[in-house]
Amino acid sequence: MSLPLVEVTDLKVYFPIRSGLVVERHVGDVKAVDGVSLTIFKGETLGLVGESGCGKTTVGRTILRLYEPTSGRIVIDGKDITDLPERELRPLRDKMQMVFQDPYSSLNPRQNVGSIVAEPLLIHGMERKEVDAKVRHLIEVVGLPHDAANRYPHEFSGGQRQRIGLARSLALNPALIVADEPVSALDVSIQAQMINLLEDLQDEFDLTYLFVAHDLAVVRHISDRIAVMYLGKIMEIAPSQELYTAPSHPYTKALLSAVPIPDPKVERSRERIILKGDLPSPVNPPPGCRFHTRCPYVQETRCRTEVPELRAMKQGQVVACHFAEEIADGKITPRSEMVGLAP
Ligand code: SF4
Repeated sequence: MSLPLVEVTDLKVYFPIRSGLVVERHVGDVKAVDGVSLTIFKGETLGLVGESGCGKTTVGRTILRLYEPTSGRIVIDGKDITDLPERELRPLRDKMQMVFQDPYSSLNPRQNVGSIVAEPLLIHGMERKEVDAKVRHLIEVVGLPHDAANRYPHEFSGGQRQRIGLARSLALNPALIVADEPVSALDVSIQAQMINLLEDLQDEFDLTYLFVAHDLAVVRHISDRIAVMYLGKIMEIAPSQELYTAPSHPYTKALLSAVPIPDPKVERSRERIILKGDLPSPVNPPPGCRFHTRCPYVQETRCRTEVPELRAMKQGQVVACHFAEEIADGKITPRSEMVGLAP
């Protein structure tokens, strides 16, 4: 097992809600992240998955200190960065980069691709000749055309713009890349190419990824392990293969049952867990297990009153459910009105 690159302990990120026209009052908090602990090992890809609004993007951004944590601890490569002042954080920022869902919004339309990729290198005082060689190399490794350096972002497709963003992120040889829904805006055919590229770059540049996505199908092939989030908390973390073949948490089961199977015969006959209702508000999350208002396996009293802690189930797998063993053994079955055939 390799060493940890990122260690997050009991991370909370609350965004205050203020009200009042003349005098602002603090009337509550959006508990976007509420006690998340996870580790990302050097060289691995951790997929972080959950519905929109579950807090996964906030976790990614807070690890990079783009958001300030309310409490908890963030350690990067053995260094506690939780309260590090910006001045001391700056050299570390070069080693931690973010790739966005919509690269276009983060690319200056007035700069050509060459200067976009060169910018971080020039800021770090690299010689012009070296910069030009490095930019050429980066443009090549991300699969952009040779003449890309002299062209502008609007001349490229969505997938190519994502490659421009990647080339810029790689300029300073980062150790960690937080990829926030990097393929969600792309066509399915381009998604596979982008995921293959990310895997190739991981080998070539020795990268560690936190890959944030709302869709379990997308993270399957790239992730070594997957963490599933719901309403600010981690529900399950497991090696990718185990999570897909034997998910332990009812929420993971529900997400997986929504992933289409390519065989139409199997797809037509398989059962699907139907989650009723929307994600509850992170301002007033449900007491007890956060998933209890939508869980098909919910049990009286305990699920509604006692918060389930993350605990080990099998090798490398942790789950936050009071009844994970009973559900795995079939002693507790889902409520029939929440199970149906795939549409
Ligand atoms: Fe469902 Fe209860 Fe498990 Fe929560 S603790 S996931 S409500 S069975």
